[in-house]
Amino acid sequence: VRRVIVECTRGGRYSTIWLPFGSLKAIRLGRTRIQYCPIHRRFERVRKVDPRSLSRRARRRAQALRDLPIP
Ligand SMILES: [Zn+2]
Repeated sequence: VRRVIVECTRGGRYSTIWLPFGSLKAIRLGRTRIQYCPIHRRFERVRKVDPRSLSRRARRRAQALRDLPIP
């Protein structure tokens, strides 16, 4: 399953499953959604992060930190 790196409103980065369902709707809603943050243990708004904008170290750390396998 493909995972993407996201960043929550408090700056925590982790990887999550981001299903590209309803592409038109997703575009309208933008690149954010609300989900449970495994770092801060609460529901937060997250946005996708371009992995290329991160250093290799930050990218690996974010990829190693995963939330629950529920999309
Ligand atoms: Zn968070």
